[in-house]
Amino acid sequence: MDEQALAELRETVAISHRLLYRTGLGTTRGHTSARISWTGERAGEGDGASGGVDAFVIKPWPHIQMHRVRADDLIVMDFDGNILGAEGRRITKVSEWPIHAEIYRAHPGVGAVIHTHQKWATMMGFAGATILPLLDPELSAAVAHEPVVFDEDKALIRSVEQGKAVAGRMHGANACHLQNHGMVFTGPNVETATVDAIATEHLAEMTWRARLIGSPEALPSLALRPALDRRARGEIPESWLHYWKWVDANPESLRPRSADI
Ligand SMILES: [Zn+2]
Repeated sequence: MDEQALAELRETVAISHRLLYRTGLGTTRGHTSARISWTGERAGEGDGASGGVDAFVIKPWPHIQMHRVRADDLIVMDFDGNILGAEGRRITKVSEWPIHAEIYRAHPGVGAVIHTHQKWATMMGFAGATILPLLDPELSAAVAHEPVVFDEDKALIRSVEQGKAVAGRMHGANACHLQNHGMVFTGPNVETATVDAIATEHLAEMTWRARLIGSPEALPSLALRPALDRRARGEIPESWLHYWKWVDANPESLRPRSADI
């Protein structure tokens, strides 16, 4: 991975954090990561496909408020939890890093992982309720397949063993309910995983509210097919551009609020 590509990816990961904040999915807790091949310090020891170390970019600990995350804040970790190329910075890693590392290790097609403690989608997990694809096929594609459920352990995912167990549940799934805890989203790229996290939250709230007053009907699966095909080709969702341009053009918006689209 060349320096320019890595710089652009770091910027995208930082923007993802700001979007998750703006849409109410997190304030301090929560992290987006992206898979990289690290060719800096320790690259000679790597076994990555391109000759670098299999690694990912992620937010460090102590937590930076999600609306303040910038590309330079991010750190690089390998799948064993070692921080790479930190150059003497006094930083450490987020406690739930094994979620990210073990998903990347187990699922080579995953390019990005997001973990949040977002309210509405997590609540639907508590309730064992289905989040319905109610509107906008591109966004509803996020819930075309129900999130898998991880209920073996309801604590924070701080050990490699826990991370492996979560990753083991995510074969073929783009989302996972961590019961009594939060959500995990994966995608081929940061943009898709971010849109999925936001769309899932919005649809979870809409499903819950609609069920209070009636019997909402989901979009037919045929309506979701073009969006799912675009996703399968690795295309970046159009709504990503709308989201991040709006957030960066409206600094006064940087306060947590309910998810909206
Ligand atoms: Zn968590």
